[in-house]
Amino acid sequence: MSTSASTQVAGVYHRRLGDALVTGLSDGYVDMGYTIFRNIPEEETKAILARDHRTSPPRISVNAFAVRMDSRTYLIDCGSADLMGPTCGRLPENLAAAGIDPASVDAVLLTHVHPDHSNGLTDAATGTRLFPNAEIIVHENEINHWFNDEAMAKAAERPRRRYFEAGRTQLKPYMAADRVKTFRKGEVLPGVTAIPIHGHTPGHAAYVVSRGGESMVVWGDTVHVPEIQVARPEVTMEFDTDPEAAAAARQMMFDMVVTDDMLVGGMHLHFPGFGHMRREAGRYSLVAEQWAFEV
Ligand SMILES: [Zn+2]
Repeated sequence: MSTSASTQVAGVYHRRLGDALVTGLSDGYVDMGYTIFRNIPEEETKAILARDHRTSPPRISVNAFAVRMDSRTYLIDCGSADLMGPTCGRLPENLAAAGIDPASVDAVLLTHVHPDHSNGLTDAATGTRLFPNAEIIVHENEINHWFNDEAMAKAAERPRRRYFEAGRTQLKPYMAADRVKTFRKGEVLPGVTAIPIHGHTPGHAAYVVSRGGESMVVWGDTVHVPEIQVARPEVTMEFDTDPEAAAAARQMMFDMVVTDDMLVGGMHLHFPGFGHMRREAGRYSLVAEQWAFEV
């Protein structure tokens, strides 16, 4: 038997939800500095990560989710392409491994417009739509904010380039083809309901998929580094547009997930990104889903 394996098999994990097939797809991960956190001393973030046997500096995993139901294929977020470095941008190969042709995707639902979620929509060099038959579904505040010239002019150089300019590059070809559909809240597709969780970005949204009595919430960036923000929900991030609202939305989402006993899919939960939450003595914890042979 060989012991020389140096890479994993594909970053693809399937799970049933009623008669729907939900697939966690890895785009990779990116290691960040400790300066991304707000509201917590650096020693404390280091202690939590060490306690949980996590790498230091903190790692942000990046996932997208496919939902296949009613003979339709939906993708929730679409990875980062080449904007997040060599340990990210793996979504296309994992989509292929999952047997999903980008041309077969009927809709891409965006939790928000940030490079790790929306940069896989368009080939930036040519303006080619990478999901040629998909409609883009996104909260109207995202379009209003990232296409607001005044807000863009006020932004620092890096966010202006990576959020405003990159976001526009990614969305414009779909707008030109009249393929962007915005919402405020409620049902966005049959069986898929959007919940606004504004704060991280102005139109940040979670999606609840309900099938045959089972429900799952894909909660976008409710947490970025789960070890830290599940233990300490008040910890916000450097890249939150409105940190106070982001913390309130996180608290609301944790409470909903525990109260309704919902399955969670998280863009920044470590792959494959599925889990449940519990609350004991006012403290939250996250339990990763167990692996199964059978889908
Ligand atoms: Zn993110």
